[in-house]
Amino acid sequence: MAKRGGDDEMVAGAESLRQFTRLSRLLRARDHSKGLNPAQWEALRYLAIANRFSNTPGAMARYLGATKGTTSQTVLSLEKKGLVSKQAKSGDQRQTGLALTDTGLAILKGDALAAFADDIEALKPKMRRRFSRAVSDLLASEIGRLEEPSFGVCNSCRYFREVGNGEASHCMKFSASLSSADEMLICVEHVAR
Ligand code: SF4
Repeated sequence: MAKRGGDDEMVAGAESLRQFTRLSRLLRARDHSKGLNPAQWEALRYLAIANRFSNTPGAMARYLGATKGTTSQTVLSLEKKGLVSKQAKSGDQRQTGLALTDTGLAILKGDALAAFADDIEALKPKMRRRFSRAVSDLLASEIGRLEEPSFGVCNSCRYFREVGNGEASHCMKFSASLSSADEMLICVEHVAR
């Protein structure tokens, strides 16, 4: 019986993998919209949630698992469309900071993946928590295998310090103050506690 159970679990795992890969392909196919391709949509989504230490082409390439060359081409095309702007980072003229333009922000409001986000929200709370946990665990395994950054948010980072007394929090890595809005954004230097 134990062997039968093990076989069933392997079949269930293979079936989950099949469904997961098909789901990700179908979601990616929806990203051919509004004159953009999937790589361009992914870049816009990244810039909407990346903090000011992570809005560089290099960090974006690591988050997306893309090469630097492909990411540069994607950024260039978004710049030409007026969806992204580039500026030298303050304190380091060699680094380029990327930002969404107003047009870029507006186009993200029509993100085709919003319907899928609604489907996740519509799951029963217990299932939503389990789904979130399972996806987090699977993503962490893949990140660990590839030795890529976790791209987490501040409150789970070892460099994060809460100051209290209503004062802004602090990042020990960048010696910088963090607003409550900053704390919600993902970071290329995040290291889990
Ligand atoms: S506390 Fe961690 S996640 Fe937040 S900005 Fe600093 S390094 Fe990044």
